[in-house]
Parts: sequence; structure tokens; C-alpha cells
Amino acid sequence: MKPYFYDLGPDAWAQWVRAQGLPAYRAGQIHRWTGRGVSDWTQLSDQPAAVRALLAADFDIDGLTAVGRFVSEQDQTVKTVFRLRDGNLIETVLMRYRHGDTVCISSQAGCRMGCAFCASTGAGFGRSLTAGEMLAQAALTGAAEGVRVSRIVVMGIGEPFDNYDNLIRFLHLANDPDGMGIGMRHLTVSTCGCVPEMLKFTNEELQVNLSVSLHAPDDETRIRLMPIARKYLIDELMAACRTYTEKTGRRITFEYSLFSGINDSPGHAKRLCGLLKGLLCHVNLIPANEFDGGLFTKSSRATVRLFQDILESCRIPVTVRRELGTDIMAACGQLRRGLESERDNADVRWRDGQGPDPDQQ
Ligand code: SAH
Repeated sequence: MKPYFYDLGPDAWAQWVRAQGLPAYRAGQIHRWTGRGVSDWTQLSDQPAAVRALLAADFDIDGLTAVGRFVSEQDQTVKTVFRLRDGNLIETVLMRYRHGDTVCISSQAGCRMGCAFCASTGAGFGRSLTAGEMLAQAALTGAAEGVRVSRIVVMGIGEPFDNYDNLIRFLHLANDPDGMGIGMRHLTVSTCGCVPEMLKFTNEELQVNLSVSLHAPDDETRIRLMPIARKYLIDELMAACRTYTEKTGRRITFEYSLFSGINDSPGHAKRLCGLLKGLLCHVNLIPANEFDGGLFTKSSRATVRLFQDILESCRIPVTVRRELGTDIMAACGQLRRGLESERDNADVRWRDGQGPDPDQQ
């Protein structure tokens, strides 16, 4: 397989351009297209046909093919299902917030973490994504939807810290001023709590936001929900969080999904207060996403409210995440789960009436 166009950074383009005997300025011109979401060589309008032919001989530009697009009628959330060159399917979600358009990307095709509540786990593990495949999700989504992507969150399918080196490469590519140029502060990585990588990440000294999926204040409850909790007990996880906040001076966002009768009692909320007291952090309460075959149900509004009130009374900054795109199963791996069984079948439903390219039908 040829290298993927989006996997090359500025240095690699400079090298390639030199090896081809092309003028040096071509490198910057070509690299800039990786931020613009092109998927066809003819779109590189500032490159002569001869250069495009050289590029086409050495690289693939169509590594991600949109095979499904679902638009929420509630809130304009758009979920795209992309097929990778080897047939793996991933999902990318565009969320339209007042403060800007955010793309949620997948870091792996599938996930090895096995969280009991998560739809990504059910469909099995394909492989980790390359940095370019992560970047392209955001760039292609921006181009296809005609929006300027202002933030990228690595919160889709997969565990980013289980794909550490490619993740770091991706963050640099996304940040490159000649590429997508997304400020480090507008990039967010979410982990289920892989402690060694959290510590490594601390030392990268990046201004990137870190979210930690906590979901429980005690080992017993957390182990019921997340296998990783057995490997790294809460004490160890919290020690890594403290190291992170102390060394970087950056706030951690703790994600806490509320599952009815599992982790949502006032007792859990109080224990969470004890755990987080004095830590530079923010808690994001997430109403559980229910899906067919899922084991958990969401907590009632009153339960969520009480949980929030208890945290607030302990002066812990807390917000309840607005649910977006529930009508298109926008959350975590829910579509891939349904589609993985039929992935070689081009007949993915198109709900926006545009339909796939007739050539591909
Ligand atoms: N692997 C990373 C990022 C992917 S999931 C992580 O674990 O953080 C993004 C967030 O959604 C995580 O907090 C995850 O625990 C949560 N999540 C996954 N499935 C969910 C569900 N069915 N209901 C509520 N939250 C869910």
C-alpha cells in the first residue's frame, strides 16, 4: 500500500519535493492541502498536472471514503462513517456548538478496553489509526460540511493512549499552522485512564486538554464498568492526575457517565467530592447513552440534578453534557457496531437524500 497523503508532515514533504527535483516552495503548497480536506489529486489546483502525476504515483489520497452520512434533525450533528483502505470502518462526528464547530474523531477502528457500557467494544478491534487517518477525519469533515473546524476532540472510537505515538504525531499535524492550524488549546484527548501514557503525556508539555473517563469514585464500582480499573486502581490513577495538573498547571476534565443504579447515588457523589477535593479539575456529567443490546440505562433527571448539586456544594466545577445527535446514534461506536457485520456491503443507508456517488453504487 502506498503512503497516505495525510500522513506526511512538513519535513517529509520537503524531503519528497527535494527527491523529485522540484522547487522547494512546492512542499509548503502541497502540505497546505492536507488541512483543506482534499480527496482527489485534481483538487490540488495550484499544482501542475506533472506534479499531481508524481504525487499520484507515490501516495494514496483517498484513504478515507465516506460510506454513510447521518444528519440529526434535532441539532445538526452530522455523523460520517468512513471506510479505510483495508475495509475497516470508523466514525467521525461534527458537533455544531455556539463557540465553534467541533469534530470528534476516532483513534482506532474498534477498541481493546472493553468498557461494559460502551458500544465501541462490541464490534471488535480492527487496528490503530495512523496520524494522517486521524487528521483526515477532521479535514474531510470540514470540507464536506463547509465549516471551519475550530476544535478537535479525540473522543470517538478507540483509546487514544493505546495508540500513543500516532496520537502525538496527529496532535502536531493538526496544530501545524500550514495544515489545519488548530491551536493546541483547541485539541482534546480523552482517556479511560492508561496511567503510564498519562505520565508520558504530562512530559510532552503540550497545551492540549486532557479528559479522563472516571465514571466511579471507588475501585469496586469502577471495576464493574471498566476493565482498566483493575489494572490501575483509583489511587494510582489519581496520583497520575495530580502529577499532570501540578507539572502542567492544566485542569483535567473528568468524565462521569451516569448509569442508573450503578454509579449515580448521593453516596457516589459524596465520595467523588472527597476524591477530587483540591484538584485542579472540572467534572462533566454525561447522561448514559442507551443503545440496543446495551446493559445500562440512564439516570433520571432528578438523580442527575442531585448528583450535580452535591458536587456543587463541595465547590467542584461541574457541568452536565448536552446530548447531541441521539436520533442518529451519534455516540461512541453505535453506528459501527451495527455496520461492521455488513461492512463489505456498500449498501450503507444514506439519510440525507443525497446518496452515495453513483459511480460507487
Ligand atoms: N477511550 C476514550 C475515548 C472514547 S469514549 C475514553 O475512554 O475516554 C468518550 C467518552 O464517552 C468516555 O468518557 C466514555 O467512557 C464515554 N462513553 C462511552 N460509551 C458511553 C455510553 N454508552 N454512555 C455514556 N458514556 C459513554
